[in-house]
Amino acid sequence: MLRTHSCGELRLEHVQTKVKLAGWVQRVRNKGGLIWVDLRDRYGVTQLIFEEGSTDKALLEKAAQLGREFVIQAEGIVIERTSKNDKIPTGSIEIKVDSLNVLNPAKVPPFIIEDETDGGDDLRMKYRYLDLRRGVVREKLQLRHRMMQETRKYMDAANFIEVETPVLIKSTPEGARDFVVPSRVNPGEFYALPQSPQTFKQLLMVSGFDRYFQIVKCFRDEDLRADRQPEFTQIDCEMSFVEQEDILSTFEGLTRHLFREVKGIELEEVQRMTFAEAMKFYGNDKPDLRFDMKFVELNELTQGKGFGIFDAAELVVGICAKGAAEYTRKQLDALTDWVKRPQIGAKGLVYVKYNADGSLKSTVDKFYSSEDLQSWADAFGAEPGDLMLVLSGDAKTVRKQLSELRLKMGEELGLRDRTVFKPLWVVDFPLFEWDEETQRYHAMHHPFTSPKKEDIALLESDPGAVRANAYDLVINGVEIGGGSIRIHDRPTQQLMFKHLGFSEEEAQKQFGFLMEAFEYGAPPHGGIAFGFDRLCAIFGGSDSIRDYIAFPKNNSGRDVMIDSPSTIAQDQLEELSIRVQLKK
Ligand code: ASP
Repeated sequence: MLRTHSCGELRLEHVQTKVKLAGWVQRVRNKGGLIWVDLRDRYGVTQLIFEEGSTDKALLEKAAQLGREFVIQAEGIVIERTSKNDKIPTGSIEIKVDSLNVLNPAKVPPFIIEDETDGGDDLRMKYRYLDLRRGVVREKLQLRHRMMQETRKYMDAANFIEVETPVLIKSTPEGARDFVVPSRVNPGEFYALPQSPQTFKQLLMVSGFDRYFQIVKCFRDEDLRADRQPEFTQIDCEMSFVEQEDILSTFEGLTRHLFREVKGIELEEVQRMTFAEAMKFYGNDKPDLRFDMKFVELNELTQGKGFGIFDAAELVVGICAKGAAEYTRKQLDALTDWVKRPQIGAKGLVYVKYNADGSLKSTVDKFYSSEDLQSWADAFGAEPGDLMLVLSGDAKTVRKQLSELRLKMGEELGLRDRTVFKPLWVVDFPLFEWDEETQRYHAMHHPFTSPKKEDIALLESDPGAVRANAYDLVINGVEIGGGSIRIHDRPTQQLMFKHLGFSEEEAQKQFGFLMEAFEYGAPPHGGIAFGFDRLCAIFGGSDSIRDYIAFPKNNSGRDVMIDSPSTIAQDQLEELSIRVQLKK
């Protein structure tokens, strides 16, 4: 070994030990006759000292030549520091070096490789391998590693078998576009990369595997956001002979295990809410329950009093922000502008201040008496000091707008604490979702999800009202996982495809293999998949999943380090029998 210890290991008890360390030069401080070098590796930073008088002159000169990020090996004696640094675990000692070996010099790095860096996002992504040397970045990947190990521990102990499924497959419908790969030996034909291993894990149930899991890469060609990457990782799971309740308790168990082992947190009871309740009270199928601020519908109290905007609205609905009556005119104007931005799209914002003295002041005093306003306050359960914010319009749109405003108010009032975790199961999702663009129903989860038995009769008459055996795990307003109890017989699966607008031939061509498998003894089964990157980000207290991926892509789906995607050589195209002609 080129070293006896790591750079994070030595303490006072090692004083007088002869050691050999290897690592990267993080920083050199040269005070003439005295040189300190911070030596870094994955485990920490240790200070090296070279001192005129006691250090050999040639050695001192050699030390003076060291630059940032040189890879060196240093041998010496551990001594106690005169001025200690209690910010790092090795801060009580330093190494009095008697031999120094430069293993590899380094160019000056394009940004400072310390927790606080001067490197912008793009630069750090281009040199991601240098960015990954920074302690704060490395810690995130260490967290990810812990989460993976603990997931495997829990799943293994619960009898799940990890099975790998293929990456070159044909399209699985998870609602996004596929990435495709041309086949050289089958000219003109393409594989699709899996949006998830959905059909394979169901086939494994038909095979009798009973409990499957896989920590697996999935690929979806979607527009990117902070919490989306074209390739991402799922903890993908499937179980046989189960009902919804069994899945919820097994994966509540996994969630609990991860919080306990990785964060030392004992999770409280995971709440349950139906999709319908989530939409009604939070305008959102992934409500952030770290704070209350539930929607209150005000149609009855507000309509028929001469205020045309409310009278014309399908829904008048509001939230009560506790303790926000102190908001200044300027703050309220800013909120109004905020809801009117095109991203939110509200026409305006009505507010009522419940002043500390008990009086009520609103933007619609012209139309409503103080008794009227008091009745709103009662509906909200508001107290003096609170601020009521009301929006109106078409029900679906206004719920969405108010949901955004609720989150914004939660943020402004400091109610979205990253150290608090509020997990929630949202259950009873609709089976179908109406798509305005294509003017037809889509599967809200995916086409393999089973309808609730008691709703099957509605399939023909009112498809939009059919509920599915589908569930999502939400933590702090982020969808962490989702799954369903599956269809496991051919006739129901065929019926489902029919409702989704597939012709019999299309369904057979795309999913004939699965429907055929259902005819050879398919057990009742169901499963779930967790978005592993998001789970890591939530555990780490961050919004961006990119920080938890070693080599992420940027917002244009580009890896700026290896410069991909890129064109390929003409002979590669020839081999694939492909001619590229881009559409103008
Ligand atoms: N395949 C689904 C997804 O990726 C999860 C599941 O239904 O198990 O969202």
